[in-house]
Amino acid sequence: MNGKTILVWFRNDLRIHDNEILLEAVKKADRIVPVYCFDPAHFGMSSFDTQKTGAIRAKFIIESVADLKQSLQKLGGDLIVKFGHPQEILPEIARQYAVTEVYHHREVALEETETSSLVEAALWKLQINLKHFIGHTMYHKEDLPFPIKNIPDVFGVFRKKIERESIVRNCLDTPESISVPENMDIGRLLTLADLGLKEPIIQAFRGGETEGLRNISSYFLNPGLHRTKLSPWIALGCLSTRKLYWETRKQENAIPKETLNGIILELLRRDYFRFMLKKHNNKFNKSPANEDEKKVVDMLFTSWKEAKTGIPIIDATLNELNSTGYINHQGRQNVATFLIHSLQINWEYGAAFFKEKLIDYSAASNLGNWYYLLNEISGNASEKNIDFLKKAQECDPKGDYVRKWIPSLASIPGVLIHQPWKLSPTELKQYGIGDVSIYAALSIP
Ligand SMILES: Cc1cc2nc3c(=O)[nH]c(=O)nc-3n(C[C@H](O)[C@H](O)[C@H](O)COP(=O)(O)OP(=O)(O)OC[C@H]3O[C@@H](n4cnc5c(N)ncnc54)[C@H](O)[C@@H]3O)c2cc1C
Repeated sequence: MNGKTILVWFRNDLRIHDNEILLEAVKKADRIVPVYCFDPAHFGMSSFDTQKTGAIRAKFIIESVADLKQSLQKLGGDLIVKFGHPQEILPEIARQYAVTEVYHHREVALEETETSSLVEAALWKLQINLKHFIGHTMYHKEDLPFPIKNIPDVFGVFRKKIERESIVRNCLDTPESISVPENMDIGRLLTLADLGLKEPIIQAFRGGETEGLRNISSYFLNPGLHRTKLSPWIALGCLSTRKLYWETRKQENAIPKETLNGIILELLRRDYFRFMLKKHNNKFNKSPANEDEKKVVDMLFTSWKEAKTGIPIIDATLNELNSTGYINHQGRQNVATFLIHSLQINWEYGAAFFKEKLIDYSAASNLGNWYYLLNEISGNASEKNIDFLKKAQECDPKGDYVRKWIPSLASIPGVLIHQPWKLSPTELKQYGIGDVSIYAALSIP
């Protein structure tokens, strides 16, 4: 084969807009070989007895890969999809198509960086270079006013300096066309069954760049109070955060200032957690779980995972998470605080469960937020009780959220739904409620 061939290794960057590895490969090579690997290391069980990727997120990933494949086909190319370890698959494909270089976006979390090192070593044996790009953050690492090792640990300080001294780069162009080798062996798209997973009952989000872009537009047609619900597409890179930043800035005269600033602030927080993970060299977690600890936490952890803690607002939130893969930020904080503070379970169990369930799971955002909460809770150690009843009334003043996610309590009127243990036997009968023993057992005074 004459000319230069570059392999583009898609990971958490499943898009054709604002994608440097794709654009650069198209510019530098005569043809490109786009590849996505379903890595067996991302599936199966974790040491916390949770699934590494649950069915809801797996489905979202499959849809996103399918959408990327279609987009590449529209540009004249295609996507090779394989199931296997990238360190085995990529060198094989590289050899098959006489690839001279492999492009990918650098990751920050431990598992992903280990995979990159294995791929790099395997390619090196074939004298092929793995070229690293930086493309997951809104602010480019090279535009920060400090080197990673000097990033301020306090978010407020980080924010002030960045807002004063850095700018967000423009989005990169989408290639107009791509050229791939003839008769490329494209493999086949996987199904949930291939991954040993069952079809989820509810689908709240559809994966893919096309759907992500559509959701940006529909959000700005009717913006809420800055919560965009775009995190699933951002986490998998179906949307670039720069894209969301610039689309938000375009709305300067159309949406309230708080909404605009709120979105940009949260995107910055996302950058911060990513840079912090890099700065602290993945020292957030101490896993794997040890067996003695597991025996102690087993029953309580199971009751939390299965939404049977006895606190309606907590159980409703966990029911929503289990059914849809998404809960809002306040909900995440509530159930995480309950696990750490009330159940006294090591936060890493909760983080592992979030990894299984969250459709927008992203290692840096997940670890960073759990770690942040943990520090906040230990900083307030004097506060013996966190008042979940008060939280419930703030988040769900009429009880409708609990009514939706715990239908068995739905007939309890008003905010009484937050305290079923207060119902008399007559009231229980009146509302047609059967067994409320779970609510009596674990209820907080
Ligand atoms: C314990 C815990 C675990 C979490 N795990 C994850 C995770 O695995 N993946 C994830 O994307 N978010 C995580 N979050 C952060 C946050 O809850 C979600 O990003 C947010 O709820 C997404 O909703 P949105 O798209 O409407 O956000 P918006 O408010 O519209 O914000 C815009 C974007 O900014 C980013 N963002 C917002 N808040 C945060 C935050 N606190 N930290 C990091 N990025 C943020 C998201 O990409 C989001 O889409 C976690 C929060 C907690 C408390």
